[in-house]
Amino acid sequence: MQIQVLGCAGAIAQGAYTSAFLLDQAIALDAGTGLGQLPLAQMLQIDHIFISHAHLDHIAALPLFLDSVMASRSQQQRQPVRVYGLAATLHSLRKHIFNREIWPDFTVLPTSAAPVLELIPVQLGQTIAFSDLPYQIEVMPAEHSIPSVGYAVRPFAGAAALVYTGDTGPNPKLWQRLAHMAVAGLILETAFSNHDAALARAALHLSPSSLAHELRQIAPDSSYPIYLTHAKPAQAQHIQAEVAQLAAQDPALATLLASHPLQHLQCGQIIGLQDS
Ligand SMILES: [Zn+2]
Ligand SMILES: [Zn+2]
Repeated sequence: MQIQVLGCAGAIAQGAYTSAFLLDQAIALDAGTGLGQLPLAQMLQIDHIFISHAHLDHIAALPLFLDSVMASRSQQQRQPVRVYGLAATLHSLRKHIFNREIWPDFTVLPTSAAPVLELIPVQLGQTIAFSDLPYQIEVMPAEHSIPSVGYAVRPFAGAAALVYTGDTGPNPKLWQRLAHMAVAGLILETAFSNHDAALARAALHLSPSSLAHELRQIAPDSSYPIYLTHAKPAQAQHIQAEVAQLAAQDPALATLLASHPLQHLQCGQIIGLQDS
């Protein structure tokens, strides 16, 4: 399984795009501005998009993406693009985006009989399987300022999962679940530097200090890489410097990080994960 990091920034700047990850070719996790970096031919291969929550940095490219692919998909009589999210997330998309004011209602376009968009509600703990793809996707807990989830992707049933947390503050339920599953890699947010730790707490994001608290909950007998995402472009260097200090400040954490190496994601990076 391969993950292409289309966007992993918490805001935009030249070369920095917001959250969007492409799994092999047909599935995207979140639809931030990074989704717009794909060539049209690759956009046309995406049949499923899993949205973690309705914040703009995770959905910004979705309305324009649908506009880009609608005509070709209609000509080819393709199935709708299936967009998955919590019922509250899908409600926000209908009410605030696809409301015929901000953007057309793509659930009835180009025709109501054969639309380009289908919204599919998911629930925490549910596992989604596909008729045409081998993947299984489990809906994971997140703790954020609006209803939010993460997603665990297995390339096939029983395989180790790539886990994407979405946006989350301190999240004990995530670590409880991870302790009971095989993990191939974890994409975990660290949105703010310690200078803005109070803001991170209020907005239910992580900063390096609260990240350390989260990492101490890792099951000690596990081993997988951790990819840090969602840094605000203006804070990325501070966050990296503060994360680099974590192991030096805490020997027990240093031991844990030896088997869970931390890496700061870069837009455009490709992560290869061994199927097992
Ligand atoms: Zn958010
Ligand atoms: Zn976000």
